[in-house]
Formats: sequence, structure tokens, C-alpha cells
Amino acid sequence: MAAAPAAEHAQRSWPASLLAADVPLEYRTPGGHYFGQTGFAVVDEAGGPQFWAGMRHLGGIQVLGYPISRPYLGQDGLQYQAFQRGVLQWRPDSGETWLANVMDWLHDGGHDDWLLSLGVPRQRKDDGSLTDFAQIKAARLRWLTNAPITRYFMQAGAAQPSPIDSTERGIAVYGLPTSLPEQHGPFIAQRFQRGVLQYWTEAIPGLPLKGTVVGALAGDLARQAGIFPAAATAAAAPPVPAVIGHVALSRSSVAQGRTVVARLWAPLARRVAGTIGDNPLLLAQRGSWWVGIGGVERLETVGALPLRLVAEDQHGTLHAGPELVEHVAVSSGHYPLERFWIGQAQLALLTPETIAREVALLGEVTTRLTPQRLWSGAFQRPLNAPITSPFGARRSINGGPPNTAHSGVDYGAATGTPVPACATGRVALAEGLTIRGNAVYLDHGLGVYSGYAHLSQLHVRVGEPVERGQVIGQVGATGFANGPHLHWEVRVGGVNVAPVEWIVPGAIHDL
Ligand SMILES: [Zn+2]
Repeated sequence: MAAAPAAEHAQRSWPASLLAADVPLEYRTPGGHYFGQTGFAVVDEAGGPQFWAGMRHLGGIQVLGYPISRPYLGQDGLQYQAFQRGVLQWRPDSGETWLANVMDWLHDGGHDDWLLSLGVPRQRKDDGSLTDFAQIKAARLRWLTNAPITRYFMQAGAAQPSPIDSTERGIAVYGLPTSLPEQHGPFIAQRFQRGVLQYWTEAIPGLPLKGTVVGALAGDLARQAGIFPAAATAAAAPPVPAVIGHVALSRSSVAQGRTVVARLWAPLARRVAGTIGDNPLLLAQRGSWWVGIGGVERLETVGALPLRLVAEDQHGTLHAGPELVEHVAVSSGHYPLERFWIGQAQLALLTPETIAREVALLGEVTTRLTPQRLWSGAFQRPLNAPITSPFGARRSINGGPPNTAHSGVDYGAATGTPVPACATGRVALAEGLTIRGNAVYLDHGLGVYSGYAHLSQLHVRVGEPVERGQVIGQVGATGFANGPHLHWEVRVGGVNVAPVEWIVPGAIHDL
């Protein structure tokens, strides 16, 4: 077999213009991922080793640690890549990635005395009476006599209990035991074909907590023993990133009705677009980074919501596909239930037709995109008045099912109370609506809008610029209202989101 070079893109260097960019520690590359923590990339090569897929399949950095070598050709003609906790082996005949028996390599290389000085038990021999693999396996598994180590072995880095037989998963990652558990100073250690597990029995500051099990760094041990080719462990230039090299979400889990802020590192992108669920992710370029905001619907299903990205590179090539899909975990907003009893005259306003017409009109107005951000800083709370109905409240009308959710927040206040703009922007709508009564919607740029409803008086006209704090109307009870109040909304890309996030100073405003 001919010696295969490392992935071609792992050897190209960057355009000089990228060197000054604010580069994340780790990022996607074409077909893989670069880990700046140790300075090596892990990639899937077309028609060659699939170390990136294999790494993720085996549990990622949780199980393997970071890469500590480039792919290299072993003396047996197979390709390998070393990680802190183990060494991946590519099997071209089956197209699979396995962990190599690196602790057995160290034994074969005569390193057991040195390993013992580090607290690694010597490799123990069978008595030689067993030759059948199933019998050897059964005998070796009986060496799992330390309960915490055995539990850790069976879980093998998986966050969830494995669907396959847990002994098989442990063997896939660590191999069979090659020693009994032995006390070595502050921990009990057990040696396996592919690694060493340590159960810490003493509390020593700066070392793993007493009572925990950790995987010793078998790959690092092998590197220290000098068993990798020197060229494979020499640092390489950081590879060129994928067109979207890094995605950072403001939070990994977001409640229904909240705003998501995503930062994308995309120095090679000319344009980027995206969606969150069925709604737009609104993106603005900030040097090599793009900042996107998107709203999660207040009635969104709890679970994983896809955030899809499309990017055009500097040659005009479009990039999409599964590697540009992130997932946002949507959690319950824990919104309260409200019951209303209203008379026929008010109820007549709420026909499916009037609701649909108003939804369509406001949808059209609030999904227009002004590419500049017109606001700065946190939004101003429009009234210092009690909240009479919170955002997102599930609403049951006259005993019906609670199948709607409040699109804004209601403040109880006397008719005529002046209503200020919550932020600087431009008037996008100022007119009488059937349900919201006299209403004003302000465009704050980047797809962010605020709305004010049930007003008795309107003080602004469409197209007019308004300053934060400028009075735009007065509190009233026009439209579908059972008394004077201000209904205040914030929309992101047409999606009603919880206004409270926008009045609390925080990351949302620093777009
Ligand atoms: Zn309301």
C-alpha cells in the first residue's frame, strides 16, 4: 500500500487576509474539524480514512480527547491517527474506524516498567489454557471486579445508556481488560488493551475528584514512549476553514417564545442566509463574523429545532447540506393559562377571517428587512405600570380549549397615558385594526419590530423616524379589549418573542 499523505486541505495555508481575523480555537474544515487546542485537524478523506466520522461515532473528545497527530501510515500498512486517549485505526476493507490496541503496543515495545512507574498495571498473561475467543473474552470480563471502573467501562463515554450491549460498547472503546484492578497511590487502576481506567480513592488538590473514574491518556503515553513517527506529531499550519467555520449560539437551550442569537465565523463567505424552524435567521456581517437573530415561536414544539444555514463563498459557490445544520434545543416556556369570559359583541371581532386578515397584514409589515440596525442598547420598558397579562399566556375564551398564546405583554394603565417608543426606529404601521384597535408598529432594523395596540390616540405617521422615548400614542381600549391597557409586542423576523429579554441589558443588543 502506498503511503497516503495527510488531507490535501490540511496542508494549504490561509489567505493572508484571514490571519488578522478573530479566529475561534476550533472550527470546521472541509470534511472535518480543526482542533486548535492541540493543533491538529481530523478529516474524512474522499475514498480514504474517515477519522472525523469515526471520532464522532466513538464519542468525540469526551472519549478520545483531542488529536495529537496527523493521519499516518503504520508499519502494518494501515492508517492511524492518534488522540490523547487512544489511537484510531482505519480499516479500508470494512470501511470502519476502530481503536487500536495501543496499550498492547506499549507492552510489545517493552514499556511496561516505565508504565508501572506511572501507576499503570503490568499486562497480565492468561494461563494459556484458553484458545477460543469467546472463552477468553468471558474469562477477561471476570477481571472487572471494581464496580466504579466497570460502570465507567460499560458507559464508555456515552452520555446516554447505550442501546447496544454495554459490555460490547466498553470493549469497542477500551478493549478487554489486560490486568486486574490494582491500587497505585491515590487511585485504583485497571489496564485494558486500548486504555487505562483510574478510580480515584484519595482527595488530592488539583487532581481528579475522589470517587471519580477517569480514562488515562493512552495516546499521550504512546507519544511519550515515542512510538509515533516524528513527522506525524510535528505541528502543521492551521487548515483553511469551511465556508462557515464555527457557529456559536447564545444558549444551547432556548424556551418557547425566546430570541436566539447566533454568531457565525465565516471569513470565506460572501453571503450567508439561514432559517430557524420555518422562520428567517436575520444576519448581519461583522468582519469575519456574522451575527444572526431569530425568534422561536411561542407555540413551537418542545424538542430539537433545526437552524439551517446557506453560504456563498468568494467564488460564488453555494454551500448548504447537513454540515450546515445546527440544532437549537427548545424547552417549555412554562406559560400560565388564562381564562376569559367575554360577551357576544366583543366575540364577534374574533372570527377566523378577521384574525387571518390581521395576522397576514402584520406578517407582511413586520417581515420587511431593513439591513441596518437602527436601535442601540436595551429597549425601554414602555410603561411603568402593572402587567395584567404576560407574554405567551395560553388563552381559553369562554371555556374553550387554550389553543392560542398571548403575542405580547399587557400593561394596565388609564386611558390617555402617553406611550413612548421602546427604541429608535421608523414607523412601519399606524392605523386602526380590528383586533388590536389603533396600533403602531416600529421598524428597528435587522428584522426587529415593536408593536403598540389598543391606543386611544396615534401621534405618528407611517415612514416617520422616531427616537427612543418619543411619545407615539396614548393608552386606550380600542379593538378587542376589556378595558384600557397597552398591548406591547416585540417581533424578530415576524415571530413574536418575549419582550422582557429586550428590556434587560444583555447580549441580545450587542449585535
Ligand atoms: Zn395583549
